[in-house]
Amino acid sequence: MQPTRRFQGPIDLHLHSTHSDGTESPAQVMQAAHRYGLRTAALTDHDTTSGWAEAAEAAGSLGITFIPGMELSARHEWRSVHVLAYLIDPDETALRTMTDRIRSSRLDRARLMAERIARDYDLQWDDIVAQTTEGATVGRPHIADALVARGFVRDRTEAFSDILSPRGEYYVALFAPDPVTAVEVVTAAGGVAVVAHPAGRAGVLPRALLNDMLDAGLAGFELGHRENVEPGIRMLRRLVDERDLIVTGSSDYHGLGKPNLPGENTTADDMMARIIDRATGSAPVYP
Ligand code: AMP
Ligand code: FE
Ligand code: FE
Ligand code: ZN
Repeated sequence: MQPTRRFQGPIDLHLHSTHSDGTESPAQVMQAAHRYGLRTAALTDHDTTSGWAEAAEAAGSLGITFIPGMELSARHEWRSVHVLAYLIDPDETALRTMTDRIRSSRLDRARLMAERIARDYDLQWDDIVAQTTEGATVGRPHIADALVARGFVRDRTEAFSDILSPRGEYYVALFAPDPVTAVEVVTAAGGVAVVAHPAGRAGVLPRALLNDMLDAGLAGFELGHRENVEPGIRMLRRLVDERDLIVTGSSDYHGLGKPNLPGENTTADDMMARIIDRATGSAPVYP
């Protein structure tokens, strides 16, 4: 017998709020999800779970199911790798230690980037703080917003293509665990690990690394994401079929910070059920 599925589609499993680099509060993100017709939505702020309570309450009053999530920063060599972590235990020690370390490194790194940028642009640290909600995970998007506010660029896209580019003179890398460690920590916290935008412009991850991540407990890939491109998608689809992996589709909504809109990619009901069945760290919040 199938377990009772209490959630309903459409399902979007990747949205950001002002607790990281989105431009809307967790409640506003859930309102946007509802407005775009979603019935199940996750909040996946970078390296923090601090928006969950507000999002869960808003989702409940809107009649949609809330899936607690996070997008954990990792790095392989020069490449940034994002690991979506669903239904983790937010108080699990190793995970907390790791996210605390990443967020504090992000703050140091933003200060260093601000100092470098200030050599050429009239930009103060306070300009960046002004773009950041208290306690939020700080990232390049907040520096971008400060550059926009000061009139140096038109929007985040322009800031990222130039001043904030990893190839530019102002870039500083942040501390991030390697992807295998990230998957291990998420899995040990009872969560389900899914690689975000795994076939993005930087190209697909090497097969040997993917195998190591799968051995560490990786559950699947976010194949439905606007940044994924061929031939990476094809390679990952084969891997999914071979190893019966979970596949998700999501928007990566950031409010006004990106053009991505809630529900532009969605996750199938049976994949949502597999994520819920596999997780032990926390549970969906049903309306
Ligand atoms: P960081 O983690 O601080 O290095 O910044 C990376 C974040 O910036 C990602 O999570 C994206 O959401 C965001 N980002 C990257 N490229 C762009 C872009 N072109 N426009 C808007 N946001 C971007
Ligand atoms: Fe982001
Ligand atoms: Fe990401
Ligand atoms: Zn994201």
